[in-house]
Amino acid sequence: MLLKAMQAALGPWRRPCSTSYGFSSARSLSGPSLRRRRGSQHQQHQQHHPPSLRTPPPAFPARKRHCGSGTARVRAAAAARPGPSSDTAHSATPIAIQTSGIVKRINFCQWCGGPTKHEIPDGEEKTRAICTLCGKIAYQNPKMVVGCLIEHDNKVLLCKRNIEPSNGLWTLPAGYMEIGESAAEGAIRETWEEACAEVEVLSPFVQLDIPRIGQAYIIFLAKLRNPHFSPGPESSDCQLFALDDIPFDSLAFSSILVTLKLYIQDVKNGRPRFHYGTINKRPGSSPSDIRAYTLDYHLQS
Ligand SMILES: [Zn+2]
Repeated sequence: MLLKAMQAALGPWRRPCSTSYGFSSARSLSGPSLRRRRGSQHQQHQQHHPPSLRTPPPAFPARKRHCGSGTARVRAAAAARPGPSSDTAHSATPIAIQTSGIVKRINFCQWCGGPTKHEIPDGEEKTRAICTLCGKIAYQNPKMVVGCLIEHDNKVLLCKRNIEPSNGLWTLPAGYMEIGESAAEGAIRETWEEACAEVEVLSPFVQLDIPRIGQAYIIFLAKLRNPHFSPGPESSDCQLFALDDIPFDSLAFSSILVTLKLYIQDVKNGRPRFHYGTINKRPGSSPSDIRAYTLDYHLQS
């Protein structure tokens, strides 16, 4: 139903495929590790007006103005901002909840600045940071990362990261979804910011949950509205790769590797499917171990 709803909103698959979207389980994949993903510094791009989801803006912003400026500011902000999904950034920070997920310890209320206490609220099961002055509870929930897998001439568009983490490694254009935009709109915006590419979203392709770091990826299949792309401030390079030439040894994140593997599998099978899966870090593995994960609960349409 979710897929049907998303397809109804976003349009049909680009290629003919089955009209049945019943999910079936598939063998778990294993491969490179769970590595962290930092979101884009969206606040640095307030002046940007990425392409709309359904119709291109009549006066699309000049590419160079968007993608050639603000690099230093973005880099500086990126360096100053802690990685919200970092395996390591919070490792020395006491966590409020001893679960499998990473939870920040919140010591002060985000609404009134008052000190917090850490207790299990009535009727709940998890310890929360509760303001001792105003009583509000600071809930921490997963973040959504949205991006595009862009097909063009039987190739896919990858960006080489120009920021940490995983500086110098290849990724799909993706980043944190913003309040006020849909997942597809966020994916289009991130693609514009990171690859200066105008894209049209074709269909949802994969949702990958990463419970341990509190992230959920949604990657859409997309196509270029025109053949132009170039590195944005957070990228040092953008290239179209034939599927046989994808730099699997130099990918930035396990989520990207899983996405590309599933895509290649679907291409070989002749049609795109919608995939869902959970990426779980192997116990005891290093955050930098790029092959220390399993893809569990893999469902596909
Ligand atoms: Zn408060």
